[in-house]
Amino acid sequence: MRGVRSGNGHRLLVLLLGILFPAVGPAAPGAHRYPTVSLTFDDTHASHRWVAEVLHEAGMVATFYVNSPRVGEPDYLDVDDLLAIEALGHEVGGHTLRHVELEDLDEKEVVREICDDREALLSMGLNVRAFAYPRNSFGPTTLRVVEECGYLSARTAEGITAPNDCPSCPRTEAIPPPNPFRIRALPSYRKEWGFPVLRDAIEAGDPEGWLVVVFHDVCDAPCTKYNYAILRDDFLNLVDWMRENGVRTRTVTQVILGLEPDEDGDGVGDEVDNCPTMRPRRAAAQRRSGRERAPPGEA
Ligand SMILES: [Zn+2]
Repeated sequence: MRGVRSGNGHRLLVLLLGILFPAVGPAAPGAHRYPTVSLTFDDTHASHRWVAEVLHEAGMVATFYVNSPRVGEPDYLDVDDLLAIEALGHEVGGHTLRHVELEDLDEKEVVREICDDREALLSMGLNVRAFAYPRNSFGPTTLRVVEECGYLSARTAEGITAPNDCPSCPRTEAIPPPNPFRIRALPSYRKEWGFPVLRDAIEAGDPEGWLVVVFHDVCDAPCTKYNYAILRDDFLNLVDWMRENGVRTRTVTQVILGLEPDEDGDGVGDEVDNCPTMRPRRAAAQRRSGRERAPPGEA
């Protein structure tokens, strides 16, 4: 009963009215009016170091999906950036070696793209447990290989309703998701959306559900380079609005493992650092790829 002091009849009355008439009463402390939000950033862009620091200042966490061969290349994050991002309480996940459509590859190549990428990221000292499909390309074989490479989850970029996209889709993913290797998300953010589309998607979400948002680069106006980039001002407006409205963020793996959000407000998800790093079941994946070739079109 935070906020209620003995002898404070007015506060008690307000609280009781809030319980009896929740639609008109004040929001109770800690009330979940919005879904749990996971902000995810793909493709290793150098701008994500700034993103990580802005979110940390706001007491939020995010998941950054990176391609190991890009690490240290011009315009991309380097190893020090990634370690700093993790140290701020964020998560670094894998996104394959070459960022190609996995469905077009045979299983041996799928294993290489996913497992070799994860092993390279682990060798950098990163705690890599979440994966995202490049170009939203996946199938039964890729779902299985992701799991065999030691990942706990895989994020798509589809399955949640957005403007002009899948009106019959749900507004949020479930917690826990029905298939952790096919996590449904808002389609990739497009620069014509602007901040209001994101605000509306969060406001429309089930307070018990999970809204996963997919971002790529962040840039300044006029931002003509990428259709999928978010303008810096739109991103800052989103962060300010989320903070003012108490929208809770968690990394993808915090949601998958059911870890508590960052309740002490230090930007680091409670308990998240206590989880052991899972090693890839690489040998099993390689054995399987040697004897089972996915039929054309299936992978
Ligand atoms: Zn990508």
